[in-house]
Amino acid sequence: MWSYHHALVPDFEPVIGLEIHAQLLTETKIFCGCSTRFGGEPNTALCPVCLGLPGALPVLNRRAVELGARASLALGCTVHPTSVFARKNYFYPDLPKGYQISQYDRPLATDGEIAFTSDGRRVAVGIIRVHMEEDAGKSLHDGFADSSRSTHLDFNRAGVPLIEIVTRPDLRSAADAAEAFSRVREILVAIGVNDGNMEEGSLRCDANVSVRPAGETAFGVKTELKNLNSFRHVQRAVEFEIDRHIQARREGTPLVQETRLFDPATGRTTVMRTKEEADDYRYFPEPDLAPLVLEAAWIAALRASLPELPEARRARFVAQYAIPEYDAGVLTQSMALADYFERVAAASGNAKAASNWVMGELARKLKETRHDIASVPLAADALGELIALVDNGTITGPVAKDVFEKAYGSGRRPGEIVAAEGLARIDDAAAIDRIVRDTLAGHAATVAEYRAGKTKTFGFLVGQVMKATAGKADPGRVNAAVRQFLEQGEQPA
Ligand SMILES: [Zn+2]
Repeated sequence: MWSYHHALVPDFEPVIGLEIHAQLLTETKIFCGCSTRFGGEPNTALCPVCLGLPGALPVLNRRAVELGARASLALGCTVHPTSVFARKNYFYPDLPKGYQISQYDRPLATDGEIAFTSDGRRVAVGIIRVHMEEDAGKSLHDGFADSSRSTHLDFNRAGVPLIEIVTRPDLRSAADAAEAFSRVREILVAIGVNDGNMEEGSLRCDANVSVRPAGETAFGVKTELKNLNSFRHVQRAVEFEIDRHIQARREGTPLVQETRLFDPATGRTTVMRTKEEADDYRYFPEPDLAPLVLEAAWIAALRASLPELPEARRARFVAQYAIPEYDAGVLTQSMALADYFERVAAASGNAKAASNWVMGELARKLKETRHDIASVPLAADALGELIALVDNGTITGPVAKDVFEKAYGSGRRPGEIVAAEGLARIDDAAAIDRIVRDTLAGHAATVAEYRAGKTKTFGFLVGQVMKATAGKADPGRVNAAVRQFLEQGEQPA
């Protein structure tokens, strides 16, 4: 029911920022030589350094710095010549040292931006900072005989290198927040910094959410949603939180700055703890590590080594190959897939057909044979050759699918298969007429039905002729020949 009062209630604008933790793809931990491999027996990848035993000294992993800086540059940030590691002090059972080595007031990199197009709108999200830190261990609350009384701890993850990416509160909807997280993941995976595996926790997202009356510039009270481990969870959790804030503002209920957890089963968020302030952590520079100093030339070389990023590649695919944005989006989901497509397009000279084959038959076959694009047993130029055989009229579309099946995994070239198995297209009109007559003679009853007016049998009869030619006849010619035969009233021979 409409009431005048509604016109006076201001519309609210959501304000959302993300904090993304990404594990760097190193072999060893950030400050020691222990393995970072996921899924090992609990507490097998440990040493005095990552356990924080007295007297153990951290040594910074050079590869972790390289990957952290690479990510920062790909996110458009300035990588600073000097950054400083700091101790973030807090007690938690999975943090045996009593502090986490992180970066605080002198982070690795600052001031970047990612931009993308979503539903035709350009969305730009500022990156405040990228800093490096170590991960904590893992508390295991379930699955043990004494789980009702005890928590078990696995420290294999303690000391695994992370970057934390903090965005500006530039996002204005739950859908954009989920999309921004997905774009950050895409960039990190494309540049080989992170494996993108959210189930194993190597990429995690927190979201800061507040609302304010539209037009106001001051921020409302914010809540932090912790450990959202899928794009869908980001979207649902942020949606729930926006609604909760707006309802509280409308009712005049005060909101509290706090950390909340999302429960996918109920779709609701619940309080985890009231928010610590930075002061609570008693940050101070890590005394066991010198400031991290990076040379300008090293940073420049790292920047020069970055590949073309997915968003840029998508735009180039649409412009260069004249393929739809949808295709460009699918084909750039991984660097390897995009590389493969470009090689097929070059070899075939037909980018749209290349796109259709890669997204269609090839994707289906990869799934069926449990290969991924990196190990695909069909050379890109072989697929290109197959497409060219269709385009230049050597084979028909149905035969191409058959040749594809024979070439996939066998190492045989499409041209060779066509020649060896006599699969070239039948263009000879007399030959086609003969096959039409012979085939329809075997379907006299259906032919009679057609002539009596049951014209929908036409497709069936064409199908029978195509089958008789093993798909090799030009379908257009078969169509015309069958129609002519039926309409001229010619009797089967
Ligand atoms: Zn260690």
